[in-house]
Amino acid sequence: MTADPKSVEDAAVLLRAGQLCAFPTETVYGLGADATNADAVLSIYETKGRPRFNPLIIHCADLAMAETLAEFSPLARLLATLWPGPLTLVLPARPGNGLVDVATAGLDSVGIRIPDHPLALALLAKVGRPLAAPSANPSGKLSPTTAEQVRLGFAGAVPVLDGGPCQAGVESTIIRVEGDRLVQLRAGALARSEIERRLGVTVELAEQGEAITAPGMLASHYAPRALLRLNAEPRAGEAFLAFGPAPAFAGPMHNLSPSGDLHEAARNLFSMLHALDALGKAMIAVAPIPDTGLGEAINDRLQRAAAPRG
Ligand code: AMP
Ligand code: MG
Repeated sequence: MTADPKSVEDAAVLLRAGQLCAFPTETVYGLGADATNADAVLSIYETKGRPRFNPLIIHCADLAMAETLAEFSPLARLLATLWPGPLTLVLPARPGNGLVDVATAGLDSVGIRIPDHPLALALLAKVGRPLAAPSANPSGKLSPTTAEQVRLGFAGAVPVLDGGPCQAGVESTIIRVEGDRLVQLRAGALARSEIERRLGVTVELAEQGEAITAPGMLASHYAPRALLRLNAEPRAGEAFLAFGPAPAFAGPMHNLSPSGDLHEAARNLFSMLHALDALGKAMIAVAPIPDTGLGEAINDRLQRAAAPRG
C-alpha cells in the first residue's frame, strides 16, 4: 500500500520527484506524471499496462503554461476561452517545449487542456510543470470517478489525491485546430453543439479513420521515411537499431539499451528512430526486442513503423 498524499503540497512533491500521483479532474481521475520527465511518463505505461504509445493529454495550470507548449492561432485562442473545462485542443507543438516524446508519442502536435477542478488546478500550479494524465485505470478497464476506484484498480500501488467523486465521468472532448477548421477527434464531456453555440463556430466531425481513438493507427503520423526490417541482424548499407549486446557492425547504429533494459529502450525509442531515419538510408534493421512489459508498446510502435504504406 502506498501512502496517499494528505494535501496538494504532498502530491506536488511526489510529482516533482518524478513519481506518479492520481488526482481528480472534472472528467475522471487522472494518473498524473511530470510530462517533462521521460521516466515518469514511462511509469504511466508500466502502471496502466498500456500496450501502445499513444499521445497523452497534457494538463496545464493556466493559459500561460499552455502557451509555452503549443502555438496558439487566434482560433485556438477562441477555443481556449472555454478553459478550464473538459475540452482538449490538439495544436502544433512549440519546438523545444520540454515535453518528452513518450508523452506526445513523437508527434509534432500536442493535446492540451486546463481541467476545471479546484484540486487539479491547485496541484498543477504547485507542480509548476505540465502533467500527462490519462485516466487512472489499468488499460482496458473502466475509467475511475472516485479515489477508491483508483486504489482498487491498482491494488493500492498508486498514491491518490482524494477529491471526492468526479462530476462528468466522461472523458474530455478532443478538437484539433487545423488552420481555420475545427475537427472533433473524440466526442466527450463538452458537446460539439455546445461549443458551436457558445463560440459561433463550426466543428466538423473527423473523417472515418481520422479520429484517433487509438492514434497509433494513424500510419502517416508514425512512419519514418526509411523502411524497417524487424527482428533482424544488420546488413551492409543499412542503419541499425540495436537492443542489448550488439553484433559488430560498421554502419550507423544506435543501441536502445546495451544492457537490455526495456525502460531505457522505451525512453530512447523515438529519438533514436528519428536520428537513424535522418541519415537517409533506405532500410533500418531493428534487433529483436522481448515482448514483455514496455516491450509490447515498443514492438507495437515498431510494427506500425514497419507496416507497408500506401
Ligand atoms: P488520454 O488517454 O485520456 O490521455 O487521451 C489521449 C488521447 O488524446 C489520445 O488517445 C488521442 O486520441 C488524443 N490526443 C492527445 N494528443 C494528441 C495529438 N497530438 N494528436 C491527436 N490526438 C491526440
Ligand atoms: Mg482511459
